[in-house]
Amino acid sequence: MNTELTASALPGQPFVAYQGSHLMVEGVRLADLAREHGTPLFVYSKAAMLTALAAYQRGFAGRKAQICYAMKANSSLAVLQVFADAGCGFDIVSGGELARVLAAGGDPAKVIFSGVGKTRAEMKQALQVGIGCFNVESDAELDVLSDVAVGLGKRAQVSLRVNPNVDPKTHPYISTGLKGNKFGIAHESAVQVYQHAASLPGLQVVGIDCHIGSQITEMTPYLDAMDRVLDLVAAVEAAGVPIHHIDFGGGLGINYNGDTPPEADALWGQLLAKLDARGYGQRQLMIEPGRSLVGNAGVCLTEVMYLKPGEQKNFCIVDAAMNDLPRPAMYQAFHSIVPVAPRSGNAVAYDVVGPVCESGDWIGRDRQLVVQSGDLLAVLSAGAYCMSMASNYNTRGRAAEVLVDGSQAHLIRQRESAFDTFALEQLVG
Ligand SMILES: *Cc1c(COP(=O)(O)O)cnc(C)c1O
Repeated sequence: MNTELTASALPGQPFVAYQGSHLMVEGVRLADLAREHGTPLFVYSKAAMLTALAAYQRGFAGRKAQICYAMKANSSLAVLQVFADAGCGFDIVSGGELARVLAAGGDPAKVIFSGVGKTRAEMKQALQVGIGCFNVESDAELDVLSDVAVGLGKRAQVSLRVNPNVDPKTHPYISTGLKGNKFGIAHESAVQVYQHAASLPGLQVVGIDCHIGSQITEMTPYLDAMDRVLDLVAAVEAAGVPIHHIDFGGGLGINYNGDTPPEADALWGQLLAKLDARGYGQRQLMIEPGRSLVGNAGVCLTEVMYLKPGEQKNFCIVDAAMNDLPRPAMYQAFHSIVPVAPRSGNAVAYDVVGPVCESGDWIGRDRQLVVQSGDLLAVLSAGAYCMSMASNYNTRGRAAEVLVDGSQAHLIRQRESAFDTFALEQLVG
């Protein structure tokens, strides 16, 4: 492996660094954590999360803005606790996520509920605990939500998710603001749907929102979407429906592989300039970042089990798999993979793969590594959309998780046992 790495922080992850030949997260040696808790093991840096959040907070200084962490990126309770303690609200997509917010001590009044398929039971649960806002995605959903709210003697605060039809220039599976996507209300019908919402007895219209995709690394799609959304705010208000808050969703990318997304404060500098120029700078603003708050705050530690040289490919078989790190299999996504204790020697190109019985079970392809069996590797940028998407496929218990805070390491999730994975099942008769 590149020996230059041995004295420096890794690209995009200031809290993951080599000290001598030890890879550290903040002040904790990863090899020590692997020895104590086993592998695969997710390790998160609290300072990295708070630093990522601080970039947004700087960007919004002096503005009325609420940051709602999009918790589907990483919904582990102690991660939610970090953001709740820092004053964040939460963007949720299910009743299960709402239960997690409450269990972590989050404020339900700062919760916004997104998603195209909310059930009546989820709407009821959210109304009963008094969430801040429902981000509604269709006419049909408005009717059902109004009905549920009337049944409870309440009014639901709603925002409509509009589809600005801009291309976020990201992977098709994570682009959401184009006409062909299932998300949001078409630009052309927005005024009509707002008038419908305003006419329903169980609803109070409070906002507008959009979310155009994920892992966005350019500013232009955001600026274009903002123009489209502000055009709608003007049109909807001209039609007699006031809009109190404007929610620009999430989607800002991170550096996985030399990607160069704008910093959150730089992006918001540009967006706020546009808001000011168009006269909306003093509105209540909301955002829903997920990946950019946690993605580069986490690594996944895995042990090399076997090296399997081949005619066409060499395989490095590790104990983490697609059930722990689903992004490569799902979106051909890239995670850097580095040794926890670099060794000298000639690097060999390996496909780093897991034990799951699928050819799609790969974690990295053609990686130059100097490794032996028993070595530990760190899969980087594993804080977002890894543990929250993990499964029990192949009856593999999900990994343990550790949150590092300075020189302290807290176990925040125990490793799942095989028994845990089938505890809710029963034999017949
Ligand atoms: C997933 C999602 C987000 C967060 O997206 P990131 O790319 O993780 O920032 C925000 N809002 C909505 C509605 C989402 O579905």
